[in-house]
Amino acid sequence: MIKRIAYLGLGTMGSGMASNLLKAGYQVTVWNRSADKCEPFARKGARVADTPAAAVRDVDLVMYMLSNDQAVEEVVFGANGILSGIKAGQIAVNMSTVLPAMSVQEKEAYAKRGVDFLDAPVFGSKKESAEAKLWILAAGNKAIFEKVKPVLEHLGQTVHYFGKNGNAAAMKLVGNLIVALELEALSEGLVLAQKAGLNLNTVMEVVKVADFRSPILVSNGQNILKRDFSPSFALELMLKDAGLIQKLGESLQSPIPALPVVEKNLKSAVRLGFGKENASALIKALEKEAGIEVKARSASKPGSSAVSERQPALARR
Ligand code: NAP
Repeated sequence: MIKRIAYLGLGTMGSGMASNLLKAGYQVTVWNRSADKCEPFARKGARVADTPAAAVRDVDLVMYMLSNDQAVEEVVFGANGILSGIKAGQIAVNMSTVLPAMSVQEKEAYAKRGVDFLDAPVFGSKKESAEAKLWILAAGNKAIFEKVKPVLEHLGQTVHYFGKNGNAAAMKLVGNLIVALELEALSEGLVLAQKAGLNLNTVMEVVKVADFRSPILVSNGQNILKRDFSPSFALELMLKDAGLIQKLGESLQSPIPALPVVEKNLKSAVRLGFGKENASALIKALEKEAGIEVKARSASKPGSSAVSERQPALARR
């Protein structure tokens, strides 16, 4: 039974998960590149390690949630990395969004040391991580998955098993392709709605209930109208994922013709200085092109007629 867990990477997502492991009663060791992020966990009873190699000493399981492939490369394979401290019989789980090829590379390196490995990326963002409501994907040896599953169940509301290593990483990119296209659709739609003179509160009322509704569209749409771009999922991470999705598509000769459009707008938003804002700041690239800012009119009432507001705009054409 798993009792002692090392959690590496205490960013937006990792901090919520490490907190939930402590709440669930596991003995938790934490490590983060910027050491100050470990302090709140030390206060809650976690052991703090100086290096990834030291963090994995005497634990049953090591989990990590890092920005990208390069960070995983450094933390797993680098000097004082996980591989220099981990021992046969221990289990490693990478929850970061990375290329499936990275998961396969990790699996092979761990196997040489008698260590089992799962790729276990997640859907959901800051709120779902903090509230243990993530949607978790997992891939690797089935028996090891069954052993780790009770831990994952403390972090998420669902856990889906995808078979061999790399498959969960691939599923994560499939999902993020859909998310990226949803954000592009929402942004284009809201800019068009504002140009058409529609009441944006009423537009969002429809987005909430119509047959194309989705939680991604609703939460991001409402925040855009409030001009709240505080990061749950940073725009620069979405751009990173667009690159990974593109690479996966190319390697499988699978067409993804809409993605370059999103990637172009994400890059423009980064150039405008919005990389650290929420991914929904993608709309700012379109707003610049359109010469407008999408914002709810304070006087407008939710549920008021969009049609009545639309007439003057149409008449002006
Ligand atoms: P974040 O808040 O930026 O945290 C990134 C973490 O990675 C931090 O702990 C950071 O350490 C660490 N890190 C970055 N580069 C490193 C390096 N070279 N060496 C060691 N540590 C390094 O990002 P996040 O939002 O938690 O996302 C983490 C992963 O989850 C990403 O792969 C992301 O795509 C994925 N994801 C995010 C969301 C979301 O909604 N946010 C949802 C699902 C999946 P420092 O504190 O020192 O910078």
